[in-house]
Amino acid sequence: MTQPALCPRIATRQGGLDLSRIIAGMWRLGEWNMPVASRVAFIEECIALGVTTFDHADIYGDYGVEGLFGEALRAQPGLRERIEIVSKCGIKLLSGKRPAHTIQHYDTSFEHIVASAEESLRQLGTDRLDLLLIHRPDPLMHFDEVAEAFSRLQQDGKVRHVGVSNFTRHQFESLNRRVPLATNQVEFSPLHVAPLFDETFDGLQDLGVAPMIWSPLGGGRLFTSAEPHIVKLRATIQDIADRLGQSFASVVFAWIMALPSRPLPLTGSGRIESIQAAVAATGFALDRSDWFAILRAARGHEVA
Ligand code: NAP
Repeated sequence: MTQPALCPRIATRQGGLDLSRIIAGMWRLGEWNMPVASRVAFIEECIALGVTTFDHADIYGDYGVEGLFGEALRAQPGLRERIEIVSKCGIKLLSGKRPAHTIQHYDTSFEHIVASAEESLRQLGTDRLDLLLIHRPDPLMHFDEVAEAFSRLQQDGKVRHVGVSNFTRHQFESLNRRVPLATNQVEFSPLHVAPLFDETFDGLQDLGVAPMIWSPLGGGRLFTSAEPHIVKLRATIQDIADRLGQSFASVVFAWIMALPSRPLPLTGSGRIESIQAAVAATGFALDRSDWFAILRAARGHEVA
């Protein structure tokens, strides 16, 4: 039997944070209904594939996912030293667990960023986050205040690196001038190609910063949608996969990783075969014809 591919590692910026090229997204962990032993086994299986980086947010699973993950780390104490933990802050949800919240809103104040990171550490049962991201750009965000909160958390050893998510190029560069950012985590897939054309990826490439990619499979819609343009896109990707002898999902991950900004895609599945399919994509490259065939099918028109 052939051994599954091993995921390579990558620095998110020059001299910066070293992460696995494929990152395990934990948003849906609560839906996987895994008892703690299965959560430990899943983390171990990811590590065995070289997928050592795990993506969280304070709000995932109605403020519950970090606690579920922390329970697994407490059950197997050696695990923490073998992984990197990413988390996010800045969104306040309406939740029975946060009775003080009267409206869903963003909060990027110094106090909230620090308090949220400290709560993430408590939930995860760890003394540091490897990377903390601002989840969404906040219209009331003061760049100086965010930079101050990030710097304080770094000085206190609670957070090793900082970054953002869903920021425009201008927002990224404004904050990055005040504190060095490790990444911008953005949505990208054949169902959401905007970052190719709105300067998000160009700006990051210019700075030597690798983006993280959320919903690389369109949140599953690439497999399930009956919309006619997605059905056609699916057939295009499947034809390429069949010709290359790769899985459908691997071709999508390879399409994403072909970008010169060196993206780090996040998986969204609790099935280890899906993580393997993502890792397999680090072992081959699409040629330009296949890459552009997927772009054409994604957009429904030729390039000029
Ligand atoms: P995704 O990979 O686009 O979608 C995952 C979904 O696709 C799951 O429901 C999964 O179902 C399904 N899927 C995967 N492989 C499949 C296959 N071979 N056949 C059929 N269905 C398949 O990723 P995502 O979960 O939307 O996002 C990934 C991660 O990004 C999240 O966990 C989170 O960490 C992060 N995220 C960040 C933001 C942000 O604003 N920063 C927003 C959203 C998500 P199964 O579970 O059955 O495999």
